[in-house]
Amino acid sequence: MANVIVCARFRPLSSKERRDHADGSIFIRFLDAETFVLKDEKQEEHEFSFDRAFYEGSEQSDVYEFLALPIVRDAVNGVNGTIITYGQTGAGKTYSMEGPSILDCDEKKKGLLPRVVDELFTSIKISEDTSKYSIKLSMVEIYMEKVRDLFDLSKDNIQIKESKVQGIILSGVTEISVLDPCDASQVLSRGIANRAVGETQMNMASSRSHCAYIFTVQQELIADKKLKIGKLVLVDLAGSEKIEKTGAEGIVLEEAKTINKSLSALGNVINALTSGTPSKANHIPYRDSKLTRILQDALGGNSRTALLCCCSPSPSNASESLSTLRFGARAK
Ligand code: ADP
Ligand code: MG
Repeated sequence: MANVIVCARFRPLSSKERRDHADGSIFIRFLDAETFVLKDEKQEEHEFSFDRAFYEGSEQSDVYEFLALPIVRDAVNGVNGTIITYGQTGAGKTYSMEGPSILDCDEKKKGLLPRVVDELFTSIKISEDTSKYSIKLSMVEIYMEKVRDLFDLSKDNIQIKESKVQGIILSGVTEISVLDPCDASQVLSRGIANRAVGETQMNMASSRSHCAYIFTVQQELIADKKLKIGKLVLVDLAGSEKIEKTGAEGIVLEEAKTINKSLSALGNVINALTSGTPSKANHIPYRDSKLTRILQDALGGNSRTALLCCCSPSPSNASESLSTLRFGARAK
C-alpha cells in the first residue's frame, strides 16, 4: 500500500460568513478527531473519516506536526515526499502552506512551508558530525499545462525529463542553494513575488495555477562518501471549484478544463497507488498531466505523500466542500 496520509481542514468562518450565517444553522458536526458529518443543501448528511480532521480552532503547528513532520524527517534520510493542499479558492490552501505571509515570523501563524524549512535545517544540524548536507530549492508554476520557473520568468516552458539515476528532472530549472532558514525564506519570498509579477503580465489569478516548491536534500556520509538524495515537493494546487458556477467561457473555460484535468489526473494517480498491490505492476497514469509527471518520483514507490483537503466552513460552500472531501476520501 502506498504511504498516503489524507486530512481535512476547515478554516474559521470569515466575518462576512459569520454575519451571513448568524442563524446558527449546523453545517458540520464533528464526531471525533477523524470523523465528522457534513450537511448538504438538501439537509442530507454525509459522514467522512480521514487520518485526521482539523476543525476551525486548529493550529498551524497541529497540522504541521501530524501531516508534514514525519515526511520532512524522512526527506533528510533520502526518502522522497509530497505535501499537497487541495480545495476550492478561498478554502485555506495558501494559508495552510505559507501562513499569512512567508516572511511573517509569527510563530503561531507560520504555515507548513516555513516550518518545513526550519525542520530541514534542524535535522541536518543533528547529523553534522557524520554527514555533509546541501539543500537546493526550485519553484515552478504550472499554468495551462506549461511549467514556468519562478526564479527565472524567462524560462516559461520547462520540459520534464526522466533519468534512471536522478529520476524526474525539470530541464534547466533554476536551483538555488539555501544555507539557513532565513536564507531559504528570502529565496521563497522571491519566488512568490515573481509569481505575482507573472500573473499580472498574463492577467491570471494565482488560484488558476499550481505552485510547486521543490526541495532537494543531498546527504553525503563523511565516512564512505555515500550519497543520499531526498526530494521533498510541496504543492499549492489551483482552486478545485467547478466551472458551471462561474458561467465561464473562452480562456477562463479553457483554464478551468485544464485545471480539472490535472486535478483528476492527480486523483487517479493517488487512487491507483493506494488501491494497487505493491507486487503487481499496476499502471499508474503519471503521464496524464504535467502535475503528476513532476510529482512522479515523489508520489508512490517508497515515497511519502500527505494530502490536506481544505474546506470552507460556510453552508453556502457545501457542494464544493463535499466535492473536496470526496476527492480526499477517494485518495485513501
Ligand atoms: P486559498 O489559497 O485556498 O484560495 P487562502 O489560503 O488564501 O485560500 O485563504 C482564504 C482566506 O481565509 C485568507 O484571507 C486567509 O487568511 C483566511 N484563512 C484561511 N485559512 C485560515 C486559517 N486556518 N485561519 C485563519 N485564517 C485563514
Ligand atoms: Mg491560494
